[in-house]
Amino acid sequence: MKWMSKRFTFVVIPDANQSVQRYSVSGLTIVLIPALIILLAVCSALFIVLFSGQAGNLKEAKHQLSLSESGYEEQLKEREDTIAALEADVTALSAQAKHVETKMSEIAELELQLKEIAGIQESEVRISSGGVTVEEGGQGGEELLLPEDLNDALAAETLQELSSMALQMDEMKPSLEATKEALLKHQRILEITPTIWPADSRKITSTFGVRRDPFTGRAAVHSGLDLGGSRGDPIYAAADGTVTLSERTYPHGNNILIDHGRGIETRYLHLNKRLVEVGDKVKKGDLIGELGNTGRSTGPHLHYEVIVGGEHVDPMPYLQEDREEK
Ligand SMILES: [Zn+2]
Repeated sequence: MKWMSKRFTFVVIPDANQSVQRYSVSGLTIVLIPALIILLAVCSALFIVLFSGQAGNLKEAKHQLSLSESGYEEQLKEREDTIAALEADVTALSAQAKHVETKMSEIAELELQLKEIAGIQESEVRISSGGVTVEEGGQGGEELLLPEDLNDALAAETLQELSSMALQMDEMKPSLEATKEALLKHQRILEITPTIWPADSRKITSTFGVRRDPFTGRAAVHSGLDLGGSRGDPIYAAADGTVTLSERTYPHGNNILIDHGRGIETRYLHLNKRLVEVGDKVKKGDLIGELGNTGRSTGPHLHYEVIVGGEHVDPMPYLQEDREEK
């Protein structure tokens, strides 16, 4: 390496007319200058490569960020829409629950009325209406609730209302079944009880009990109720039953006896015509004959008897309703 410490002289001859230029440099300088130039070039190349790479990455990152930002905004908007829809649902559901609750208490009230009609004692059937409560604005008004808290509270309250209603319905079902059974029984009893007028006429010509006999003039027991009318007027079965007698005898004339069960019978005397035979099943209000003047009778009328346990009773208390037009 001795040559590095030596000095070198460069001679530059620009033109024949100009003076010669001399440059004197050390050997070290000759080595360092190219080395520096190469280093600088390498560094520059390296910097360019790295920077351009980074710039690309940055651009990509920026792009990605803007993409995810818009995606996030979209998601946020969707979520807000979903929450708004759910809030609306909860509010509607709560209103619906309150409406159903009101309807249920109305049904319970109706059931009570039905029981009253059917004459059911409260002890016979468990009353379900006790469990029905209608609360308005359930959560105490003093507390200031934020909208989302309010919504949560409303949802919780609605849930509670719905489960309470489900319980009430479970309780109501057997109670309603029992009421229905009782009503059906009541209806059946009504069907076999002689409650209707056996003729269209309301003209009572003779009542039940002791009276003066129109033939002998002496006091005698009148075993039925006489209804005045015209010959041929329709005569109706006073209740559902089976015809046990349909005959013409003296002094009853054409007469019909109907057995209604439970020891109750009705009898229709002095008929013009009999329209049913023994064994016939009749319904309350069915046409069974015509009003007449047969047997021991002083004029066209129906002699109507109600027999309970074999004893003649006053038919008057039984005449409670008009026959339903069929
Ligand atoms: Zn009579």
